[in-house]
Amino acid sequence: MPIDATLPYDETNIFARILRGELPSKTVYEDDYALAFHDINPQAPLHILVIPKGPYVSWDDFSERADDAEIAGFIRAVGLVARELGLVAPGYRLLANVGLDSHQEIPHLHVHIFAGKKLGPMLVR
Ligand code: 5GP
Repeated sequence: MPIDATLPYDETNIFARILRGELPSKTVYEDDYALAFHDINPQAPLHILVIPKGPYVSWDDFSERADDAEIAGFIRAVGLVARELGLVAPGYRLLANVGLDSHQEIPHLHVHIFAGKKLGPMLVR
């Protein structure tokens, strides 16, 4: 079910539980600001999720409430993961779903990194 991104942060969401170590994840990168791990249901040969460590529902919630260090740390982590995984030369796609029309399912900001094949058109036509 897609979530309403205007609702307050829900501490019981799956990614909050992964961050607390209550659920496992296949981690590819972690620092003070971000965690990156494989999506459980990959939509491309490589499908990574990058999440900030703080409690933010969505991109706009994060950009409004996070401090500059959190924002810089998260943005740098997304780029670092892409570089470390060798994705710059072949190319990759970033996606962040927000709210109902975008079908965001997990109410903790996450950026999808898709790679490993020609990724086709940006949106379903
Ligand atoms: P959204 O639709 O919110 O942008 O994407 C949520 C993503 O989280 C989906 O691609 C889904 O496969 C992934 N996901 C859902 N539950 C889990 C989980 O428990 N572990 C991992 N690694 N990914 C999950």
